[in-house]
Amino acid sequence: MSSEKLVKTKIVATLGPASNNKATIKRLIDTGVDVFRLNFSHGTHEQKTETFKIIREVNEYIGIMCDIQGPKIRVGTIKEPFIMNVNQKIKIYEENIEGNEEQFSIPYDGFLSDINIGDLIFINDGIIRIEIKSKEKDHIIGQVISGGPISSNKGVNIPSGELKQKVPTKKDVEDMKLIAKLDPEFLAISFVGTAADVLNVKKLMQNFGNSEIKLISKIERPIALKNFGQILNVSDGIMVARGDLGVEISPDLVPVKQKEIIKQCNILGKPVITATQMLESMTINPIPTRAEANDVFNAVFDGTDAVMLSGETAMGKFPIQSVSYMDRIANTASEIIPPRDPADFDSEKLQHTQLLGRGILDLSHQLVNLNYQGKILVITRKGFGCRMISKYRPPLPIYAITPFKRTARELNLLWGVMPIHITDENFFNQPVEDIISQAVQYAVDHRHFELNNHVIILLASRKYPDFGNLVGFYYVKEIIEK
Ligand code: PEP
Repeated sequence: MSSEKLVKTKIVATLGPASNNKATIKRLIDTGVDVFRLNFSHGTHEQKTETFKIIREVNEYIGIMCDIQGPKIRVGTIKEPFIMNVNQKIKIYEENIEGNEEQFSIPYDGFLSDINIGDLIFINDGIIRIEIKSKEKDHIIGQVISGGPISSNKGVNIPSGELKQKVPTKKDVEDMKLIAKLDPEFLAISFVGTAADVLNVKKLMQNFGNSEIKLISKIERPIALKNFGQILNVSDGIMVARGDLGVEISPDLVPVKQKEIIKQCNILGKPVITATQMLESMTINPIPTRAEANDVFNAVFDGTDAVMLSGETAMGKFPIQSVSYMDRIANTASEIIPPRDPADFDSEKLQHTQLLGRGILDLSHQLVNLNYQGKILVITRKGFGCRMISKYRPPLPIYAITPFKRTARELNLLWGVMPIHITDENFFNQPVEDIISQAVQYAVDHRHFELNNHVIILLASRKYPDFGNLVGFYYVKEIIEK
């Protein structure tokens, strides 16, 4: 729905100073963005509200994801940026002091009590590594084991520690009040550690009057990997947040974890986003490196639903080109994904509709073998049927017609699904055959279907919502000419 062409792998783009204006947002959508991310680690509430308004004005069907910061630890103020040298000893305070070459602060409540001798502190994406040698009353003494540049507010990771501060922090709660009012489709939760963190956020959002928002848990800490199964069960989707994850675990393990996380999400039919540094060099160059092209391509082969751009579109020099390359690479990959063995993607937790997803996969292969011009049409309320079909990666395009704008926007995150919003409040209040003919007529009128298409239709029953799906097989010409 976001752009008129049929896209398979979806693109999430982060907005920031390089892109949060009307003209660029419009061009980004035309180039292939399906969901915009508003990163609450930066900017004011006024700026976020304004950007939100602009997106809705430009395209009412694009998805929006607000991303709360969580307990991100940062370096305090540093008077002048400097280079930390290997073997140098340095004092680190919890209290926010003005830093210099001998001492600086990590003003995180509980820092001194959380940290232990022998722990490693990573700063600036893990470029600087400091080992804790001793603890004093109001500071610790560390030895630099890997040096590099440091300046105010640089990110800090302490992989060994179980952080006392949890998501949502005080700042997150303030941000969530605004987010509940703005009412985007998705809320991304940073630094999730346990399923309880997700449930807390859910409850708070309900208290703030929003129980519709879909929760995307960002997996970026070893503890989240440990608790991944439980986190996935209570989340609506997952982000492989490789930025922090790649600092907190050894980089060689990131691709392993990425594959494992994506597979588990696919099995449950929950959307998964692969994020961070996908086209990093495009923050300064107009073309990606070969390695970056491979990274995007491989994420699609791993089974990701969406790929995400962060700095590339938020503050890079080439936001439009970044989306354009990502779109090309991801869709080239989507076109040639090897067929899935459906048995590898069945879940014991899912029953009836999953079975129909498998059946539709088989039927799709038959249509392709017979050279039929086949399409899949899901007539949907909440999008569950789409998830059960998309997860098997059928070889035919999946269209989803719904009278609910929210569902149409949410489906922007799902691999291979083209959402179509039908503006008829009474759509579902008519006999089944009329629902089907209206949906097909609408798809023809809007040039999604042609008369020679054969369409596999999935329609959930209102009367029997759990076990009452209807699968049909129709020839468009016959419906239109009746
Ligand atoms: C990440 O760490 O990969 C990530 C997406 O989070 P953020 O951009 O908020 O740091």
